[in-house]
Amino acid sequence: MEEIKFRVWDKTRKVMYKKEILNESELSKDVISSLIDEAIRRDEQRRDEQKRAGKFRVSSSGRCYHMRIWEKQGIPYSDPPSSRTLRVFAIGSALHDWIQDRLQERHVLLLREFELEDEFRIGHIDAVVRSGSKLILYDFKTVHSKKFFYLSNEIDIQYFMQAYTYYLMQKETLGLNISDVRICYISRDDMLLREVSVLDMPTIDEMVKRDWNEILEVERGKTWVGPKMDWECDYCFYKTKCKNEIGNIYEIL
Ligand code: SF4
Repeated sequence: MEEIKFRVWDKTRKVMYKKEILNESELSKDVISSLIDEAIRRDEQRRDEQKRAGKFRVSSSGRCYHMRIWEKQGIPYSDPPSSRTLRVFAIGSALHDWIQDRLQERHVLLLREFELEDEFRIGHIDAVVRSGSKLILYDFKTVHSKKFFYLSNEIDIQYFMQAYTYYLMQKETLGLNISDVRICYISRDDMLLREVSVLDMPTIDEMVKRDWNEILEVERGKTWVGPKMDWECDYCFYKTKCKNEIGNIYEIL
């Protein structure tokens, strides 16, 4: 037993505490943290099992064809997301749930986490919201608060393509009269929200259709083309596999 003096907030009471020093191996310091990490990893595994192989994921729209074809084939990641990345995903998903709950309370939420599937793609719409007589399709993106400084100068084309793909797919399957398609950015630090309209981009329809037609051609054997965005390989979950099988990805780029 070790005797330790603690400074207490009430300086009039000089208290002497005795603290039993527990063996590290008996009790980990980060009890909650390791339990949460474990829970998040379990949730992610469950989600992964639910992600059916055999279809392209709409959430990967606009990104490297090769990566998307491997995902479709159900090939396990060579560089799976780290615990930190999974925690970032989890906080995003918790915020989405919270916002969807609030929209539901206001009776404006027509669709929530609605799964869409066609012969070669699968994904889900985050929300279709009624605003007056209009319907708006939303895709939520949780980001760092610093991102808000750049939002007016930058377009996240892959997010635009994802949301527009949902728009096209819902048109085929549900036929909703959607007036606008928006990305709703959510700051994970202070829950600042910013909506950006995808339909403001005049070439979006052409770009999305070309993306999906081209990936089908690549899958059928057309020469492989590298990713279009310079950050893709750095964040790719197939980075090692790609490097081993295709060569130096950075040289290809
Ligand atoms: S590492 Fe780069 S080139 Fe290779 S699959 Fe991933 S994104 Fe595509």
